[in-house]
Amino acid sequence: MKTKRITDVVAACVLCATMCLTVTAAPLQKLTWDKNTWVAFDNTITATVDCPDPAATEWVKAHFADWYGSYAPKVASGKTGLTVQDGDEAYVAAVDANGMKIASRTLAGTRWAAYTLRQIAIAKRGTFKTEGMLLPTMNITDAPHLSFRAIHLCWFPEVRPQQIERAIRLAALMKFNYAIIEPWGMYKSEKHPWWPWPQANMTKDEVNRLVAIGKDIGITLIPQINVYGHASSSRGCTIKHSALDLHPEYEPLFEPGGWNWCLSNPETQRVLRELIAEMHENFGNPPYFHLGCDEAQRQTCPECVKTPNSELVLKHIAGLAEFVKSRGARAMMWHDMLIDKKDARWKGFVANGDSNATNLLARLPKDIIICDWQYSYDNMNETRKEWPTMTYFKEQGFSVACCPWMNDKSMKPMADHIVKIGGFGFIETTWHHLRGSDWQKMYMGAAHAAWGSPVSHEVSFQRSLRLIGQDMKVTDYLDTGFLNYQVPPSWWISN
Ligand SMILES: [Zn+2]
Repeated sequence: MKTKRITDVVAACVLCATMCLTVTAAPLQKLTWDKNTWVAFDNTITATVDCPDPAATEWVKAHFADWYGSYAPKVASGKTGLTVQDGDEAYVAAVDANGMKIASRTLAGTRWAAYTLRQIAIAKRGTFKTEGMLLPTMNITDAPHLSFRAIHLCWFPEVRPQQIERAIRLAALMKFNYAIIEPWGMYKSEKHPWWPWPQANMTKDEVNRLVAIGKDIGITLIPQINVYGHASSSRGCTIKHSALDLHPEYEPLFEPGGWNWCLSNPETQRVLRELIAEMHENFGNPPYFHLGCDEAQRQTCPECVKTPNSELVLKHIAGLAEFVKSRGARAMMWHDMLIDKKDARWKGFVANGDSNATNLLARLPKDIIICDWQYSYDNMNETRKEWPTMTYFKEQGFSVACCPWMNDKSMKPMADHIVKIGGFGFIETTWHHLRGSDWQKMYMGAAHAAWGSPVSHEVSFQRSLRLIGQDMKVTDYLDTGFLNYQVPPSWWISN
């Protein structure tokens, strides 16, 4: 297919192109491009998709139609002659005057290629409304550093559901392939309606919708329930409790104070198994289920204290992990109770366990994935290359994922360390900071670290956020940009 060469159209904006145009995608391993030779990316060209899975061509065809409408390029299957490096998600893409080529082994690789091209494409110049897109002539060779790349999202009552969808879509566009969703009292259980807040909007239908979106865009949603500490489904600093504040009759399921579940009560296991089954099924039976387990406190109720704490905890977690396994999935859990906070080896690292931690870890089922969250306390510029707690879990026979937060300088060294020790993957935690420049810092840093590429120019975050807004057809001011408000509404009242 012959394509139009439109360098003359670009020349109308040559100053802009020279001064501020950044050709990049986030994340991306290797791109070579010619800033002086741009070609039409519209219905005059054909994109050739070279993939053994015929679904890949159909996916590109459908999504080009969604993204570009009447000026979408034609899409056809065919041999490109391009050589793809090793890996299921690897791809190669080339754009020149003869058209566009994408080669990959899987639909996943083809998706990442399409996302990269979409992030780079800009509207043709010189018209009132968009009449087609432009791409520079270029060659891309790309593949991820780690095969498991997750974002951990918190569905707080204060977070708009639209923001959760934006976060999921943006994560996929930035080539994360999993999103762990922690409901914070917002999962509207039909089995146990007393568990969430009354205004819970993470309904079965909404989860079905998000899971379907995730399946289409290449990101698998993983449910989470905090089966030990954090049983209040609320931040500890608020002393809120999604169950006990409004339904005190369920007090026997929790330890006094409500932060922990009561582990000696057999009803607790029954309830949690029913909740796990309900959410796991609602999420489409994904291959993982996160059991939380961070920042738990020692059991204190008269029945629990009759049994050594570590025995109770082991029986509880191992039982639930086994239940998750019986459903065809692997349990994940946070690491902090599994290493002794008094052990000098972990000085400077997150460790909340007691002297029983070593024994507890040794007896836990080895197919549990340990999610080691290290936030470089007091030193957000941390760039250490060795992460001994992660090495320790690996040496004890567990799959281990590194989990940074806002310590973005640590992300790349952590990802490199996980690759070096043959670890499981990368989970970016976001907590209550999924907004503003923190959101940008976390997503950009984590996406590049997990993919294994250097952080590119910030403009790609802005462009990516706008693209997923287009996919959602947002119409509300609140669902644009990375903040709901540019000026806090309260200012207009107090001033
Ligand atoms: Zn108890």
